[in-house]
Amino acid sequence: MSTQTDGLDLLGPDMRGLYIGGAWREAEGGDRLDVIDPADGSVLTDVADASVGDAVDALDAAVAAQESWARTPPRERGEILRTAFGLITDRADQFAHLMSLEMGKTVAEARGEVSYGAEFFRWYAEEAVRIHGRWMQAPAGGSRLLTIKKPVGPCLFITPWNFPLAMGTRKIGPAIAAGCTMVVKPASQTPLTMLALAGVLTEAGLPDGVLNVVTTSHTGELSQTLQADDRLRKVSFTGSTGVGRVLVRQSADQLQRLSMELGGNAPFIVFEDADIDAAVDGAMVAKMRNMGEACTAANRFLVHSSVAQEFGDKLGERMGGLSLGRGQDEGVDVGPLIDEKAVESVSQLVTDAVHDGARVVVGGSVPDGPGYFYPPTVLLDVPSDSEINVQEIFGPVAPITTFETEDEAVRQANDTEYGLSSYVYTRDLARTIRVAESLDFGMVGFNTGLVSNPAAPFGGVKASGFGREGGFEGIEEYLETTYVALPAG
Ligand code: NAP
Repeated sequence: MSTQTDGLDLLGPDMRGLYIGGAWREAEGGDRLDVIDPADGSVLTDVADASVGDAVDALDAAVAAQESWARTPPRERGEILRTAFGLITDRADQFAHLMSLEMGKTVAEARGEVSYGAEFFRWYAEEAVRIHGRWMQAPAGGSRLLTIKKPVGPCLFITPWNFPLAMGTRKIGPAIAAGCTMVVKPASQTPLTMLALAGVLTEAGLPDGVLNVVTTSHTGELSQTLQADDRLRKVSFTGSTGVGRVLVRQSADQLQRLSMELGGNAPFIVFEDADIDAAVDGAMVAKMRNMGEACTAANRFLVHSSVAQEFGDKLGERMGGLSLGRGQDEGVDVGPLIDEKAVESVSQLVTDAVHDGARVVVGGSVPDGPGYFYPPTVLLDVPSDSEINVQEIFGPVAPITTFETEDEAVRQANDTEYGLSSYVYTRDLARTIRVAESLDFGMVGFNTGLVSNPAAPFGGVKASGFGREGGFEGIEEYLETTYVALPAG
């Protein structure tokens, strides 16, 4: 594949439109929505700005396709996913450039997302043929109990801007495998990758109407209208906890099935017995993946007081050595944040932490423009109640807070409304088991800075939401169970 691509070559002439019922078309009224380059604030291109009426057309198309799609042999559904996996992999370079362009992450980082994101299609190609119910004899004898798995029905998927490909494939993959049709609404800031993905799935043979993509700025009205429609049976959302709560409320009248992948506030605990160099390596991954703009990002570094200075100095040295710039440029390690609001919010959290008594090891001030950049920053001596330890930072800042005992570390770690991912560095096996059982998080990584894996159940507890994506568990979110009672004969 060409390395001269800017990724926009993935989008054919009509593919900045709406994809409804297997056709590309303009929005009703011809409205358009600008896509901004976060590296300099300029307009990259534009896409169709769907009206609520357009979104209803997309749901009509999904509903019309549902019955025949549900009857498609599982192998056929799996083969479409497997073909799409191959096409994305062949075009990894183009996808990586496109994502870098609209979202800001470096091309190297985006390549990682392409392989992670595509893997959901391969995994669910394999799961499509393993959907089955069960048969058993009733405990009292006599009747037989049978269960049948059926697709939930038409779904609405709403995805965020931080992982424009992977947050789509991990919903679309299991939905296709299970036999569901769908309307996808990507984030307004990063619509291009999803449009390119629709192109790939069409090429892979997905029947018309199974996947519909609407880009829009009328996001709230769209979700309200579609969720009020009794034909929509499921909503899967990845994004902020605030919006998640709105969607949960909106689901009440039609009692839609829900999967909510929401915000996080991951603790990264370093015990006194940890391999500090390994912990710094892990911290670089857990903190700097996606410039810190990840729900799984290490948000609070809880470090035993006896090793905090060493950990902080070493992390500061590594973070300070990273170069900031446009994600598509050679030698750049850290791209821009998504927009100006993101820079202001990160900057305010750092200012407040310093006011609360934190010491800046490296970084800490916004560079001159253009673009929405914030430098990798390490803070030591951050009080545990400083706002930076309470809120999701969503930027390249590592605040370090100390603890004295294991109990205190676990208590501090759990002291958050969130419960998505957590990270622990220790060489003590007994402690590993104790801490794994005590942390109130959907995911715990020991001696690693990366927990995401398409074969594992990704998801959170508490204000981080519910439902799981990936693994064997992920397809269950798209299946209903029918129980059939049979006489013994
Ligand atoms: P966001 O504001 O919640 O936006 C996410 C998506 O929701 C976008 O497509 C957005 O559309 C849409 N949206 C906004 N208001 C809506 C409404 N009233 N009804 C329906 N959809 C609505 O979140 P974000 O700032 O883009 O993303 C960052 C958040 O996502 C963080 O909290 C992060 O932790 C979380 N996240 C979670 C996971 C996970 O798996 N748990 C993964 C990645 C990110 P517009 O773009 O049109 O506003």
